[in-house]
Amino acid sequence: MSARRIQVHAEFAAPDSASLSPISLELLAAARSLARGGRVEAFAVGVSGDAAAVEAGAHGAAVLRHLAADAETMAGPVLSAALSKLFADEGAPDVLLFGTTYDGRDAAGRLSARLDVPVITNVTELQELEDGSLAGVEPIFGGTLNVTTRFADARPQIFLVRPKSFTPEAIGGAAAELVALAPGDAGESGVARIVGRQVAEGTGPKLDEAGVVVSGGRGLGEAGNFSLVSELAELLGGASGATRAIVDAGWVPYSYQVGQTGKVVKPDVYIACGISGATQHLVGMKNSKTIVAVNKDPDAPIFGVADLGIVGDVHKVLPRLIETLKAR
Ligand SMILES: Cc1cc2nc3c(=O)[nH]c(=O)nc-3n(C[C@H](O)[C@H](O)[C@H](O)COP(=O)(O)OP(=O)(O)OC[C@H]3O[C@@H](n4cnc5c(N)ncnc54)[C@H](O)[C@@H]3O)c2cc1C
Repeated sequence: MSARRIQVHAEFAAPDSASLSPISLELLAAARSLARGGRVEAFAVGVSGDAAAVEAGAHGAAVLRHLAADAETMAGPVLSAALSKLFADEGAPDVLLFGTTYDGRDAAGRLSARLDVPVITNVTELQELEDGSLAGVEPIFGGTLNVTTRFADARPQIFLVRPKSFTPEAIGGAAAELVALAPGDAGESGVARIVGRQVAEGTGPKLDEAGVVVSGGRGLGEAGNFSLVSELAELLGGASGATRAIVDAGWVPYSYQVGQTGKVVKPDVYIACGISGATQHLVGMKNSKTIVAVNKDPDAPIFGVADLGIVGDVHKVLPRLIETLKAR
């Protein structure tokens, strides 16, 4: 089977960060496994590409194409314009991978329109088919069914990949060759600027990067009881999460939501407190290494995915856990 040339969208962890985001490193791991000896490249928009080239190289990229832009630049319009120019000048890669992030979705959608090629979205797995083609696997209906889709005839094949679908792995490669990515004509959309950013305040690890996640659901009874969840998370050095039910009820902000329409998490330990285990919640956490559930209903669906289940009242179990941890 012939080698594949794969390009990966490398995003910075934050506008003022020199490090690449976890999803970028996940995409590089996916690209390496699918390149069949071909070349893996990355492209990024940001202030500087120097540190990113080192990181991208350590994760297997031979080249980092960097489009210099200030922190107020919207990545989607300028990136799609630059890539369509690059592909017109030098030819498109076989495969293009974007993460399912705000900028990734924006850039992939715009590029799809510019190049008149479709995008396979929401992919959690990339599969080699027997005929040598590549397919994207997308969970639908709250993760109860998988749809496998491949391109009939498109180049580049653009996939939008969900975070936590692949495991990043540094392979100790040399720094990627840093090449300037020439801007294209972004037209009117290139005029848009980011005029402000709201950063949710918080201490401790980020929800989608934490090794331990403690999440609460409607079983907590009332908003004030979420403090049990946050206290337990803090004692375990983890992050707090929530179901959509309590986000919609206004108990915690949307940034806490785990699930189909929230964040996808894959911690070492996920503790679900007063959560029924609806499929829309499960798709966001079922790949956690160890799942612990506390629910007073022994038939709650969450116990179907739990490694350890505690049938009990969260108002009794959580204070005991907190007390025990504090005593240690
Ligand atoms: C399109 C769509 C997208 C969605 N996206 C998401 C999503 O991203 N994330 C998400 O979470 N949901 C999502 N939902 C909602 C989802 O279907 C469920 O409604 C939601 O997850 C339920 O939240 P819950 O488990 O907190 O509440 P409930 O389903 O009401 O469950 C509460 C649980 O607490 C238990 N309980 C009650 N009292 C106690 C107690 N004292 N001690 C211990 N246990 C107790 C009960 O036995 C029950 O199992 C989505 C729904 C739709 C239609």
